[in-house]
Amino acid sequence: MAKRISILGATGSVGESTLDLIRAAGPDRFDVVCLTANTNVEALVRQVEEFEPECVALADDSKRAELKAALSGSSTQVLTGPDALLQAGAWPADLIMAAIVGAAGLAPTLKAAGQGTKIALANKECLVCAGDVFLDTIKAAGTTLLPVDSEHNAIFQVLQPKRPEQIRRLILTASGGPFRTHSLEQLKTVGRAQALAHPIWAMGAKISIDSATLMNKGLELIEASYLFGFGSSQIDIVVHPQSIIHSMVEYTDGSVLAQMGAPDMRIPIAYALAWPERMQTNVETLDFASLRRLEFDAPDPEKFPALRLSRQALETGGWAPNVLNAANEIAVAAFLRDDIGFLSITECIEEVLDRMSGDAGFTRPVTCLEDVLDVDRQARFLAGEVLGNRTG
Ligand code: NAD
Ligand code: MG
Repeated sequence: MAKRISILGATGSVGESTLDLIRAAGPDRFDVVCLTANTNVEALVRQVEEFEPECVALADDSKRAELKAALSGSSTQVLTGPDALLQAGAWPADLIMAAIVGAAGLAPTLKAAGQGTKIALANKECLVCAGDVFLDTIKAAGTTLLPVDSEHNAIFQVLQPKRPEQIRRLILTASGGPFRTHSLEQLKTVGRAQALAHPIWAMGAKISIDSATLMNKGLELIEASYLFGFGSSQIDIVVHPQSIIHSMVEYTDGSVLAQMGAPDMRIPIAYALAWPERMQTNVETLDFASLRRLEFDAPDPEKFPALRLSRQALETGGWAPNVLNAANEIAVAAFLRDDIGFLSITECIEEVLDRMSGDAGFTRPVTCLEDVLDVDRQARFLAGEVLGNRTG
């Protein structure tokens, strides 16, 4: 029987790579049952015509008529508006690929988890904003969470979780992004185009900027802590520019297990799609003789304060990771509009964290989605204010 697959964020980089793999594997292996997008009607319609899902959801309600008209002859059920994403999350599926970018992916992914659908998690922001709520939901529903983020997928593959006392630390690798060799002085003037030009990975705009500030690695630190149950002191970050080793686990006897592969998201996506089996991909195989050299370096805390802010947020707990994420989303969007400079991204996050850390509930555990969304809104508002002061 073909596995029933839904994709949240089907028109994005991870969504398209997921559909590439499904296309290559054929309809006997995977049946696409539901696809979602934010605003891109044209790309979504193309996907619906090819994969003929049972349901399609577009977050942007203003494009309802356009989508309906384009799919008038099709049997696919068309949903639009904010509730459409929740209905897509609830659509019966064996596995859902959570590939919406940002906190917008949280509610529909939680919906899917709550009804026991297996979750392939690309949307790291889900765990950063609502780690405990998310994991509790997965546990209560008795379902499985499969990490798609390449670092976490690597750790998932080499971790022997039944004996956590045998593990000394997790080591997340970071490519270092496009500004790895820039000076702090040079970072003051880098612009959007330079920040979007990642040397290794082709990704959506938001995660590309996160990779340039290294906030992506900061979010991944928090993601790893929730996923694998280790505290900040047991998770290290090392820069590895070639991105061949996707992450490592060090055991107490000094053994280090690493997962390696070409830097191509189709490998971790295929792992999650096929789990517990494996599937063929046409990703290039590693030619070690021509690779010649794998390099490692410590990240520079002066140039990339996002790492410090993320570690502090993880150690503080409570609302801190959620506030960090919300402020980052607002600041990255402003940078992408050319409203603020590159270094203002992390300055804004730090200021929002500082200002909100005085709130009574700041270090209290996060217990429900409504509270997560409420704090997310407050942090976004404050970040807007902070940036308004900066640009105005
Ligand atoms: P992307 O920008 O290419 O695509 C995002 C998708 O989400 C699109 O389909 C878009 O329509 C949808 N979307 C965006 N905002 C939305 C909203 N408000 N409501 C509903 N839908 C919305 O992003 P991406 O690069 O594919 O990344 C997706 C997620 O996967 C992110 O959380 C990212 O951190 C994570 N991830 C991506 C990669 C990668 O290589 N691209 C690697 C690891 C993890
Ligand atoms: Mg990653």
